[in-house]
Amino acid sequence: MNRANASTLPKPAPRTSDPSVLAEEIVERLTYRIGKNATAAKSHDWLAATILVIRDRVIDRWIASTQKTYEDEGKRVYYLSLEFLIGRLMRDAVSNLGLMDEMRDALALLGVDIDVIRELEPDAALGNGGLGRLAACFMESMATVDVPAYGYGIRYVNGMFRQEMSDGWQVELPETWLAHGNNWEFERREASYEIGFGGTVELAAADGSGDHARHWKPHDRFIATPYDTPVVGWRANRVNTLRLWTAQPIDPILLDAFNAGDHIGALKESNRAEALTRVLYPADSTAAGQELRLQQEYFFSSASLQDIVRRHVQYFGDIRTLPDKAAIQLNDTHPAVSVAELMRILIDLHNIDFDEAWDITRRTFGYTNHTLLPEALESWPVPLFERLLPRHMQLVYAINAKLLIQARREHHFEDAAISAISLIDESGDRRVRMGNLAFVGAHSINGVSALHTELMKETVFADLHRLYPDRINNKTNGITPRRWLFQCNPGLTTLIREAIGDAFMDDSEALVALDGVADDAAFQEKFAAVKHANKIVLSNLLRDRMGLKIDPSAMFDTQIKRIHEYKRQLLNIIEAVALYDQIRSHPERDWVPRVKLFGGKAAPSYHNAKLIIKLANDVARVINHDPAVQGLLKVVFIPNYNVSMAEIMMPAADLSEQISTAGMEASGTGNMKFGLNGALTIGTLDGANVEMRDHVGAENIMIFGLTAAEVAAKRAEGYKPRPIIEQSRELSQALAAIASGVFSPDDRNRYAGLVNGLYEHDWFMVAADFDSYSAMQRHVDGIWTDKADWYGKAIRNVAHMGWFSSDRTIRQYASEIWGVL
Ligand SMILES: *Cc1c(COP(=O)(O)O)cnc(C)c1O
Repeated sequence: MNRANASTLPKPAPRTSDPSVLAEEIVERLTYRIGKNATAAKSHDWLAATILVIRDRVIDRWIASTQKTYEDEGKRVYYLSLEFLIGRLMRDAVSNLGLMDEMRDALALLGVDIDVIRELEPDAALGNGGLGRLAACFMESMATVDVPAYGYGIRYVNGMFRQEMSDGWQVELPETWLAHGNNWEFERREASYEIGFGGTVELAAADGSGDHARHWKPHDRFIATPYDTPVVGWRANRVNTLRLWTAQPIDPILLDAFNAGDHIGALKESNRAEALTRVLYPADSTAAGQELRLQQEYFFSSASLQDIVRRHVQYFGDIRTLPDKAAIQLNDTHPAVSVAELMRILIDLHNIDFDEAWDITRRTFGYTNHTLLPEALESWPVPLFERLLPRHMQLVYAINAKLLIQARREHHFEDAAISAISLIDESGDRRVRMGNLAFVGAHSINGVSALHTELMKETVFADLHRLYPDRINNKTNGITPRRWLFQCNPGLTTLIREAIGDAFMDDSEALVALDGVADDAAFQEKFAAVKHANKIVLSNLLRDRMGLKIDPSAMFDTQIKRIHEYKRQLLNIIEAVALYDQIRSHPERDWVPRVKLFGGKAAPSYHNAKLIIKLANDVARVINHDPAVQGLLKVVFIPNYNVSMAEIMMPAADLSEQISTAGMEASGTGNMKFGLNGALTIGTLDGANVEMRDHVGAENIMIFGLTAAEVAAKRAEGYKPRPIIEQSRELSQALAAIASGVFSPDDRNRYAGLVNGLYEHDWFMVAADFDSYSAMQRHVDGIWTDKADWYGKAIRNVAHMGWFSSDRTIRQYASEIWGVL
């Protein structure tokens, strides 16, 4: 190709950040890209024009970052995740470019309020909860700490469902985040790949050369086309790429069928492709188990692997150097089939022998485990796996043979250990264990908090850990302080800057300097004023959206996260009922006014989780309308919890509820967001709460309940909840009220089963922890009444949350797993 030398080509004019120039640019985009003038423009048009102006500045940095990585011949990180819960992008980009004030002023010159158009941007919810949000924080941190990285995932047309309430029940509605187009993304048709399913496998070469190579002839084939979204790091140091795949048919229309009059059948291929990347499975901490889900997993894994290998070979020539130039991180087991896919590419397409392919594969992959819950451990029935991915099934067997022979011969593993580490679960119908596949195919297996990592070694991966004792390591989760402090809480950010300077904005651990003002009465007063202002914002929103009257001086006691029995929203609701009883029995006492705020989605098929939402709403209706409570207690379930709602609720929280059954929450990241925004935590010694206590000090966090070891011991000895419930007057009365229909007069039996489950088995140990939880809540009341004590603790929480920045997490991944930085 005849192309001018890049250095002699004209370059785009340098851009300024003068608000009047920005305003001109916005009008220019409005005119020529949207096709409207200022008088005809609607708010959505202003948003689009503003995004286009910001986008151009991002693109400048994006091209520079990509160029730099090519020139450095540096190693790249590939983060494979079936979920990216990115939320809105505009404020993130503007803030990280350092243009917040300028953009606000530019829009003001045009008579547009940036805060109004900002809220029109759709919230991209391509994930369920913590796992997907972690991937989004990691993308931003990788750009911030200058790690060249690509995120790979699926561009779901319908991401997480929108939750509405109908008579207190959750109803799920499709969310169409792409309805108004998406100005952040770029379609890259030139980087499309073919993805196959089913079909047959044949020996590759008639002459018998290459013992292992096979020729896979898939029966069904689709095209994977990427859409790229730039991800801007803090101060726009680097811009990385989030590459999301969409499925397209090879033949959009089957003309033979169409011409024969079968107009529906002619679109069959199109419809099947569309179905592949249409919806996110709305299950959190459960394996979806559907054929379409395995198709999604393979589709995005194969497209990503083909892209990674293509890029590597194009720039470095030799596929064998892949582990030196590419680190692929598997976010949970969802992309674990990538291990077999890379083996297929190396053996079948690049003629590498099995042992060398295995060595390359293992040196390339890292795997992050996110849960120990048995129902969340992915496995696929062998017949399904074999039908969809016949070549990969062969490779899984070959990998397994190598693994089991080595374990038996070199490490003298006995039958029980052999069946535990096997890639095939033989205990019932035969299934492929994706966790074991990811483990053996990776050089690093990490947990997401210190406790979780230790439990991994003792439970799910005990035998694999014995076989490979150097592989398991810990990388405690983190959150990006840009979104979760600077952007969502500008009031607190400004106050901190005034008190300790700007160093914390580039090094979050510099927040420790706040210790020096934690007991300063004047600073506490300003800190309290910021919190109060944030609470007014939330109460106004609750007034406008739900018609609620909330007193912003009451304690905002907040539990927002996916609804799951292990997260124990039920414990919190039962405590609210018990408190309600207490207030009515002793109206003369000095009760601390509280608002118990709940938010979160339940998996549509998770019966008890949906019932718990209904219970929260039933309890709210009764308590909120009872004059005997005198407004001292309110219960609110806020519909459709998502990233944007979190950005409002975190800064407005006084108390953070992190009350999972110990040993069941892998890390949590909501806990960190609350702490960083100056809420005190009431929580169990679970996940990252343990490390939060170590950082903030035991006197600044309210820990209650059984430890993980105690939970395990109780279960082992045959835990019996009934006598515990009968011994606790508070608990048995609250349960009796719920079970007898006090909160469900329209259906008195609604909660009989739920309450009975607590008496009969109580797997999540609600009863065992109830009394210590309730006592700790009254202790929290005591702290609240001593404002100097409360705000001293709150400020010390902010001061010591710097370590929980995802920048720290990413630096640890970069140096200890990926070998970059
Ligand atoms: C942070 C976050 C989560 C994770 O919350 P946990 O309390 O750690 O479960 C889930 N959903 C959203 C929208 C979040 O922002």
